[in-house]
Amino acid sequence: MNLTTETAKKWFLAAGREIQENKGYLSELDQAIGDGDHGHNMARGFSEVEKKIASETYEDVGGVVKDASMTIISKVGGAAGPLYGTAFLKASGVWKNKSTLSDEEFAEGLKAAIEGIAKRGKSEQGQKTMLDVWIPVLEEAEKGSIDVHQLVRTAKEAMEKTKDIEAKKGRAAYLGDRSIGHLDPGAYSSYLLFEALAEAVDEEGEESNG
Ligand code: ADP
Ligand code: MG
Repeated sequence: MNLTTETAKKWFLAAGREIQENKGYLSELDQAIGDGDHGHNMARGFSEVEKKIASETYEDVGGVVKDASMTIISKVGGAAGPLYGTAFLKASGVWKNKSTLSDEEFAEGLKAAIEGIAKRGKSEQGQKTMLDVWIPVLEEAEKGSIDVHQLVRTAKEAMEKTKDIEAKKGRAAYLGDRSIGHLDPGAYSSYLLFEALAEAVDEEGEESNG
């Protein structure tokens, strides 16, 4: 996978579009097992991310992701804002001063992001949260040469599996086993973020091929 500074910027712009398009669905998912604000929180935050990064010039992937993370922390509400913000802030530290990421460096950033989420959320895999998408995606990325479309397939399958498990963290945990049978909203938005990454990589590839 070729992830340049420009691709990183396209990633967050594509994420904004994905989230905007799926805003209603994300809130619907959160309505079922939470308080219904996830789509609204994410759409508002990512439109601020777009405002922040669209006209800036960046030297490194870390710079783009750091600006995105700071905006997410301050503008995305709910539990997801600080969690995604921390995730991308940690990743930006790994991607600092790098204008292109090797597959290995990309995976290292994902790993740091996951550690950030787990620490901040006091959470782990299997609790019906966004981590249930991020961790399988990291495992896929660590296998070696990254195929971004394979990462998306992994993210989608992982997201779908959150339907079958009971929430142990976040608001959905108050429902206990009544949370079973519903997709986790944060897992769905995480899947959209990886979908956006694939779009960005494809866009960048098309441009560089003329
Ligand atoms: P809130 O629950 O405060 O309304 P959101 O609706 O924006 O926040 O986000 C809910 C999502 O955040 C959940 O679907 C879940 O994926 C994620 N989440 C909540 N708590 C945690 C946690 N402790 N660790 C990891 N992810 C979490
Ligand atoms: Mg909510």
